[in-house]
Amino acid sequence: MVSKRMNKVNNIWGNQAVFITIEGIDGSGKTTQVQKLYERFLAAGKPCIMTREPGGTPVGDAIRALLLSPEMDMNSYTEMFLYAASRAEHVKQIILPALEKGINVICDRFVDASIAYQGYGLQPEGMTPELVRMVNETAVAGVFPDLTIIIDVEVSVAEQRIGQRFAQLQQNIDRIERRGSAFYERVRQGLKALYELEPERYLWVDGTRSSEELTERIWQAVTQL
Ligand code: ADP
Repeated sequence: MVSKRMNKVNNIWGNQAVFITIEGIDGSGKTTQVQKLYERFLAAGKPCIMTREPGGTPVGDAIRALLLSPEMDMNSYTEMFLYAASRAEHVKQIILPALEKGINVICDRFVDASIAYQGYGLQPEGMTPELVRMVNETAVAGVFPDLTIIIDVEVSVAEQRIGQRFAQLQQNIDRIERRGSAFYERVRQGLKALYELEPERYLWVDGTRSSEELTERIWQAVTQL
């Protein structure tokens, strides 16, 4: 993917804001790193927002409610288009306006998540990773990340962490997170395949390292953009 937003490589030391996305299976530590990266930007005196789909847009929130509702048993194509629709709204209303104002953006999951979850994880008949990519690249209308961080952990590690979190919060897990370890293994392998296709676009990190180490490595990559 090549950013259509600008012709040059963006970096945080110029006037141009950067767009960073963080990917990984549930429980890999994305949310933790989004928060820590956000704090690094602010500590460096760089304006920044952190966001995740649906990003607080009314249309996005309505789509999200549909997607996470256990009684909505929808087919995988519907789900794929709904995620892409939510993303289109998020880009137009939140991400692009911030970048245009020179505000750096960190997004918890983006196009790669759909390709990995829907294209590699669900694998419904006829749905290929290429199709999911095409639909989503259309939805984001040329707004591609300057850097995508993939946090890799084994499914068993993620499951253990998610179990702890949900036990702590005493919440029900949502429809996506009830899909089981074979599904997550395909998602993890999907992220790996995406990385192997375009390694220059990604930073691949081992999510079993301490959060502090991970933040340090991620910040190093961001400042070298
Ligand atoms: P995600 O957003 O990918 O689902 P979270 O950031 O919410 O992941 O982290 C899931 C759980 O794992 C949380 O309980 C968090 O405290 C813990 N965690 C996050 N990063 C690490 C890490 N590097 N090492 C160990 N545990 C971690």
